[in-house]
Amino acid sequence: MRILPVFVVATLAATPAVAAPARWGPTASGTGGAVATVDSTATAVGLDVLRHGGNAVDAAVAAAATLGVTEPFSAGIGGGGFFVYYDAKQHQVSTIDGREAGPATMTSGYFVDPADGQPYDFPEARVSGLSVGVPGTLATWEAAATSWGTRSLASLLEPAAEVADRGFPVDDNFRKLVTDNADAFGRFDSTRALYLPGGAPPALGSIQRNPDLAATYRQIAAQGTGVFYRGAVGADLIKAVQHPPVSANPVGVWPYPIRPGVLTAADLAGYRVRTPAPLRSEFRGLSVYGMPAPSSGGVAVLEALNLLETSHLSAADRTKALHYYLEASALSFADRNRYLGDGTPQAVVDKLISDSWARQRACRIAPTTAMIKPAAPGDITGPGCATAKVGGPTEQGQSTTNLTVADRWGNVVEYTFTIEQTGGSAIVVPGRGFLLNNELTDFNFTNTQAPAADPNLPGPGKRPRSSMAPTIVFKNDKPFLAVGAPGGVTIITTVLQILVNRLILGMSLPAAMAAPRASQRNTDGIQAEPGFHATYGPALTALGHTFGPDVPELGAATAVEITGYGGFIASAEPTRRGGGAAAVLWPSNSGRQE
Ligand code: GLU
Repeated sequence: MRILPVFVVATLAATPAVAAPARWGPTASGTGGAVATVDSTATAVGLDVLRHGGNAVDAAVAAAATLGVTEPFSAGIGGGGFFVYYDAKQHQVSTIDGREAGPATMTSGYFVDPADGQPYDFPEARVSGLSVGVPGTLATWEAAATSWGTRSLASLLEPAAEVADRGFPVDDNFRKLVTDNADAFGRFDSTRALYLPGGAPPALGSIQRNPDLAATYRQIAAQGTGVFYRGAVGADLIKAVQHPPVSANPVGVWPYPIRPGVLTAADLAGYRVRTPAPLRSEFRGLSVYGMPAPSSGGVAVLEALNLLETSHLSAADRTKALHYYLEASALSFADRNRYLGDGTPQAVVDKLISDSWARQRACRIAPTTAMIKPAAPGDITGPGCATAKVGGPTEQGQSTTNLTVADRWGNVVEYTFTIEQTGGSAIVVPGRGFLLNNELTDFNFTNTQAPAADPNLPGPGKRPRSSMAPTIVFKNDKPFLAVGAPGGVTIITTVLQILVNRLILGMSLPAAMAAPRASQRNTDGIQAEPGFHATYGPALTALGHTFGPDVPELGAATAVEITGYGGFIASAEPTRRGGGAAAVLWPSNSGRQE
């Protein structure tokens, strides 16, 4: 979303206020540092932190906090995410798993209605206290700022608090997201008061303010994150989960009861981010780093790249490259669905991202004939081309946000975070100004892999499987490309396709981002944007690929390429979700920064 800041963004306490630019475009090249987000205000805040000497982590946290204000339906302190960081001085890639956690009392039948033994309908599960996991976003920001930043978390929250106080103009996208969610938002007094003023979505161009969120950020700044995890903010959060603030005079129509959740203050107090080692795999002499479980994003992207590496693909034969892209994606989704979840043994993960597994799985891909979908997962216990029994479908979703930051010292952040569905659980914590996630609906409600075990069933304190895939690629031991995307399960295919476009088809980064997308997630029909279907559909159909109904767009990615000698190409979407905002600190003469 592109939101025009209509005010001056005052930044770090000790630094002068700077005017935000009228509008950032999708591409910028130059030096000094780079920021790419989906929103001009967040990019302006991140860039301003870099300008005043903050590093990539400082800028990422400040921009993320701002996205919590301007992109409240995609992300915020009511949600979670995955943070990948390259520290140039230490020459080390680290990660933060800030995924939401389920309650200690959660069992595999959590989303099964005890009244009839059937799983809840998805909307019924989503808009409830049951779907809310312990948010990990604030703990992620604190861990990042404390471990690698140079500014206090308090100072990094302040620009976002100012944006929340002063507000921003409602654009088409913001209004549409409220309109799409009006029946759910209309259930809760707190959500309705914030997003349905007078019982209807806010008018185009009206100023959207959120003083409650500004106050929450400032309270956290003053008292520390303990006030969220163990204090007054947390108490309000738990109350909203256990006793959702259901309106006596709801707006709109909602056919389901609002079920209370069972998350407790002890669950909240017990939350800790995890800092697992990143996944790493080699692709054509490049090193690719991704996020391990409970995200499936890193495994699926790395497995698919390994599969692609087994064949000789080049820009000269684009149809062949796209055929292999779609097939590799389908196979890695089959394996992901069967094997990936919170707690997947490291040996299984290591096997899935190994070259030997890719060689074993590549026998399923025929050079000129698409395989029948769904393809079965590989048999991880056996050699050769054997497959395990085919599993069931996978979770859906199209929300989330992503940002990429690189600084002049060579540090790089790739960060994807979310509240799950657009609008999360639809519950704004009363008086606190933020939406609660519905991340626990990323668990499978019943076993999708029978007779095999489903790795993504709910369990005590467990984190639901994600598709988020923040990725950093290294060339000659130096960061070369950082990329990530929103879009639920399509995150994996969007990140993979951008890598295919850039690394195999030789497109420039902006072209790789803008190119029309398609997503093959081991289902009958490819989900494609109209531009992809029209251009490549005939040749791919001739190979046996089938297309489902077109979708208007897939993903809203951000990326930064490091060009050597301190140069950056920052890249965001030209048009998807209204276009993103890419900026560099010192634009080069030839660089565009429109
Ligand atoms: N919950 C999703 C995931 O973690 C992201 C939400 C979405 O993009 O729809 O994979």
